[in-house]
Amino acid sequence: MEDIIDFRSDTVTQPTAGMLATMMQAKVGDDVYEEDPTVKELEKKLASMFGMEAGLFCPSGTMTNQIAIKCFTQPMDEVICDQTAHVYRYEVGGIAFHSQASVRLLHGERGIITPEMIIPEINEDNIHYPDSSLVVLENTVNKGGGACYTLAQIAPISELCKASGLKLHLDGARLFNALVATGDSAADYGKYFDGISICLSKGLGAPVGSVLLGSAETIRKAIKIRKLFGGGMRQSGFLAAAGIYALDHHVDRLAEDHKHAADLESALLKTDYVHHVMPVETNIVIFKVKAGYTAKGVIAALKEQGILCGATGIDTVRFVTHLGISGEMIARAIKQIGVLQPERI
Ligand SMILES: *Cc1c(COP(=O)(O)O)cnc(C)c1O
Repeated sequence: MEDIIDFRSDTVTQPTAGMLATMMQAKVGDDVYEEDPTVKELEKKLASMFGMEAGLFCPSGTMTNQIAIKCFTQPMDEVICDQTAHVYRYEVGGIAFHSQASVRLLHGERGIITPEMIIPEINEDNIHYPDSSLVVLENTVNKGGGACYTLAQIAPISELCKASGLKLHLDGARLFNALVATGDSAADYGKYFDGISICLSKGLGAPVGSVLLGSAETIRKAIKIRKLFGGGMRQSGFLAAAGIYALDHHVDRLAEDHKHAADLESALLKTDYVHHVMPVETNIVIFKVKAGYTAKGVIAALKEQGILCGATGIDTVRFVTHLGISGEMIARAIKQIGVLQPERI
C-alpha cells in the first residue's frame, strides 16, 4: 500500500522528530501570568524579525485576525477588504460577531487590491455611513491561488491608509511563502502595517499557533481580547517551541513546496479536463475544470488513486504543497494526473 498523498492543505503536516524533541525540552511557565519564557522568546523573535515592537502567541490564525480587527475598530465601523478575504469568508462572520463592524468588499485581481480600488470605498464623514477604519490585506491570497503582494505594492496602500486615518492589518497566514517567492525583506514589513498575523501551523509545519505582531500598545490591548476570546493559554511554551523550531528550520525549504506546486501546474495544463490553472506563485494550485466535468468528480477520481485534494467551488479544485509532500509523491501525483479519467456529467 502506497502512502496517501495529502494535498488538502498545508495544515495537515505532522511535527518532525527534530521538532518534537525540541518541544519536549522547552522551558515553560504559566503564560497567563506572562511567565512562559519560550512563548516570550517566540513572540520576541517574530516581532524583531518583522520590525514590530511586540507579539502575541494565539491558538489560531482566525483568533489573531479577529483580535486585530477588534483592536482596530469600534462598533459601527467598516472594514475594507477583498471579497475573497479569509477574514470575511472563512472566519464564521467573526467581524460582525466580535467587532460589530460592517464589511466593504472590493473586487481585486486574485484577491490583490490597489490604492485605486480602496479610495472610492472610503466613506466620508456623513451621518448615513459607517466609519471606515481598517483595511485588511492577505498575503499570500489563499483563494487567489497563492498570489503574492510585493512590498512595492503594499507601500502605497500603507501610505493611503496613513493619510486617511485608517489602520492596516495583514492576514499573513502564509507570509513566509510570500517572502520566499518575492525575496522581500521581513524587516521592512513592520513599518507598513499596524498588525500582522502569521501562522505557524501552515507551511511552517508546527502543530498549533499563530502570532499577532503590532505596537506594544496594540499588543497590551490584544492580550485582554485574547483572554475574552478564551485564548489565554498556560504552559503553551511546548507549542511555542515548535514555532521557534519551524522558524529556524522550515523557512528556506518553502522554495521546494513552490517548485512542487509549479510542477503540478505543468502537469494539470497538459490534461483534457482542466480549463485553466491560476498562475502558480507559491504553494497553492487552484484550477478550473472544463465544462462537462465537476470538482467533485475530479476529487473522487484522484481519491481512488490515494491522492487527496479539495474543492474551492463547484468547478474549482485546490492542491496545497507542504513539508509532508516529497519529490517522489509529486512524481506519482503527476503520473496519475496525466492518466486520470474523471467522470463526466
Ligand atoms: C488558514 C488561514 C487563516 C487562519 O486559519 P486557522 O485555521 O484559524 O489558523 C487565516 N488566513 C488565511 C488566509 C488562511 O489560509
